[in-house]
Amino acid sequence: MTFHIITIFPNIFDSYINESILKRAQEAGVVTIVMHDLRKYATDKHKTTDDTPTGGGPGMVMKPEPIFNCLKAIREKENPDFKIQKKSKNIFFSESSPILLMTPRGKQFTQKDAQTFASKKLNSVILICGRYEGIDQRVHDYMIDSEFSIGPYVLSGGELPAVVITEAITRLLPGALGNPDSLIEESFSKKLALAGAERSAGEYPQYTKPSSFSPTKELELTTPEVLLSGNHEKIKKWRNQHSQ
Ligand code: SAM
Repeated sequence: MTFHIITIFPNIFDSYINESILKRAQEAGVVTIVMHDLRKYATDKHKTTDDTPTGGGPGMVMKPEPIFNCLKAIREKENPDFKIQKKSKNIFFSESSPILLMTPRGKQFTQKDAQTFASKKLNSVILICGRYEGIDQRVHDYMIDSEFSIGPYVLSGGELPAVVITEAITRLLPGALGNPDSLIEESFSKKLALAGAERSAGEYPQYTKPSSFSPTKELELTTPEVLLSGNHEKIKKWRNQHSQ
């Protein structure tokens, strides 16, 4: 799956996407992450991507043409015969390549959304990162499939949301994680929720070695005895009792 991230700050992602799981997933050929510098698609010599709000008001608004040009370039690279979809609500609609706009007003992105995107065998996902006061409404109305928020707060740009969504989807793709069993035991894991019997590892308190740790002479921080007992039934019961 290819993630196309459209932004005016393409270098903001460098260190994050080239470490850990996203790095491994790219090296393993599970995903490709392509940054698109929106300024390259601006139509004037100053490479302007924003302008004042029509009708007045504070701040600046992202212009529609650079976003249009960038989306068109992505579609034409995917398919040289691509034609604007005059009959679709999204003129860039493609079944196998949804266009997601990052916005605080959007639907809150959940693990279920990540699972849906990961299971669809998509060719690509396109994420548009806003900046300034927002984005010209014509982008919302004609050039995207969905608007997603990563939470009920306002960030300065859509770059962090885009990378959050990219990572949440990537780690669910076959071959992305070193140990795929990690997914089964995770918070919001559908498998465990459906099984109903056992809690997921994200829900109960977890401990590792040493079982006793003394930061000062007077203080001993211990692991619950039951977890050291080797009795799986008792451990399961304790975890269920202590789940959040
Ligand atoms: N004026 C806008 C408002 O009040 O909703 C806020 C714009 S914000 C400063 C600039 C950009 O950051 C947005 O266009 C969006 O792309 C991104 N953004 C900010 N918070 C976000 C969130 N919680 N989830 C997704 N995107 C967000």
